[in-house]
Amino acid sequence: MLVVMRHGAPAADVERVVAVIEEMGYGAHPMPGAQRTAVGIVGNDGRVDAGRIEALPSVVRIIHVTQPYKQVSREWRDEPTIVTIAPGVSFGGREVPIIAGPCSVESEAQIIRAAEIARDAGASALRGGAFKPRSSPYSFQGLGLEGLRMLVRAREETGMPIVTEAMDDEGARLVAEHADCIQIGARNMQNYSLLKTVGRLDRPVLLKRGMAATISDLLLSAEYILSEGNGNVILCERGVRTFDPAVRNMFDLTAIPLVHGLSHLPIVADPSHGTGLRDMVMPMARAAVAAGADGILVEMHPEPDRALSDGAQSLYPAQFVALMQELRGVASAIGRSLPAPRNN
Ligand code: PEP
Ligand code: MN
Repeated sequence: MLVVMRHGAPAADVERVVAVIEEMGYGAHPMPGAQRTAVGIVGNDGRVDAGRIEALPSVVRIIHVTQPYKQVSREWRDEPTIVTIAPGVSFGGREVPIIAGPCSVESEAQIIRAAEIARDAGASALRGGAFKPRSSPYSFQGLGLEGLRMLVRAREETGMPIVTEAMDDEGARLVAEHADCIQIGARNMQNYSLLKTVGRLDRPVLLKRGMAATISDLLLSAEYILSEGNGNVILCERGVRTFDPAVRNMFDLTAIPLVHGLSHLPIVADPSHGTGLRDMVMPMARAAVAAGADGILVEMHPEPDRALSDGAQSLYPAQFVALMQELRGVASAIGRSLPAPRNN
């Protein structure tokens, strides 16, 4: 439930509403906004008896949030949330930043080279996993803390902010210390204790859709992070499992406008895991920007043929340069733009 208060309501009136909500045994979240001041009520399983609150000074209206997720819903907040992961790199506004890099950090030379290629082509952030969730325990598991240190070296060399995955609580703390944005992978989208942990950390979170998760599941997982106090969540569509082995996953383009209708959070698209095939990545990236994606997460490797993970879906550097050019055109066709290239 949301208590809407008159624009410019005095602080004392807002405090009074908060106090009454707390007296009733619920949690209160004051949200000063450009258009209105609102106080959200959480911790209620059913309908709250609004009578007492409606009568308080400066209260204009009570909105009953109909969705199971509250704080991530459009009913809760109408304006889009803009999530900034580093100076000049924001998701959810007019700009469409591109996050690019290899699936895994493999060596310092590899990740620095990838960062340079990404930066020179105009990407805004570097990706690369140090903690890798692999289907087989015998596959390359990532370099762990050493990999995070290599990412930091790449950021020092190129100025590129870092997005990298955390798989457990300890990893989340390490990633928060070293990186600019914590990625929660598809396999951990419903790891609720991990979601609570990153909800308490002071770092933006990129939350990927689970491979068998509904849109509602995705938004409820984001709700876990917001409910712990971290409102900086970027959602990510990365394809869902289906019956057709022709592609690794079925990339769900409709997730983008659906999420925009249901939530104020930004959503980016990952056409690399969404398709699993290098030649499908470019058309799906173009389509995602056309559909309104707030950013693209894409795998690109200096030498995809030597990649230790996801080589088949990693773009060659020249393909990435071409893709960036195409995405600039698609973005401008819908009144958006790619951020200006970083030069360090
Ligand atoms: C990745 O980004 O490399 C990754 C493992 O993605 P997902 O969690 O979407 O499978
Ligand atoms: Mn990958």
